[in-house]
Amino acid sequence: MADKNSDPVVVIGLGRFGTAIALELTRRGTEVLAIDSRPKVGQSLAGRITHIATADATDMETLNQLGVPDFYRAVVAIGGDLEASILATSLLAELEIDDIWAKAISEQHGQILRRIGAHHVVFPEHDMGERVAHLVSGRMLDYM
Ligand code: ATP
Repeated sequence: MADKNSDPVVVIGLGRFGTAIALELTRRGTEVLAIDSRPKVGQSLAGRITHIATADATDMETLNQLGVPDFYRAVVAIGGDLEASILATSLLAELEIDDIWAKAISEQHGQILRRIGAHHVVFPEHDMGERVAHLVSGRMLDYM
């Protein structure tokens, strides 16, 4: 059975979050297909990520042309543009991608993403806030 952890990953949306994921996966030796609709983003990351496509991830034909149906794992790292986040996630679900991760910016956004087929929903700002709170309280204990 293939090791799914070494399979290539599609990362949709190269804002700060998506870029960090794509670069870290690449650093770990995972092949990445990164998709962003802004040409400038692709240009600035060229050579640092295995494959970068400038394309609209809310278009099924585009996803098919890029070979997305062959991937086992995908991350939708679009947050601010709710419509694009929801559409891209629903297309990945329609393509029956086995492991879909999606970023949400609110609890309601997260609920929608789960309902339409995201297997994992992450809340980067909230999750990082909790983590920093743990770190801060840990440090405070050092002074007590
Ligand atoms: P971050 O906080 O990670 O910087 P953000 O939530 O502020 O991101 P968003 O507006 O969610 O920013 O967009 C993240 C990226 O997704 C942007 O680089 C944007 O160009 C890209 N993006 C938005 N819509 C699409 C789409 N339909 N297809 C491909 N990429 C898209």
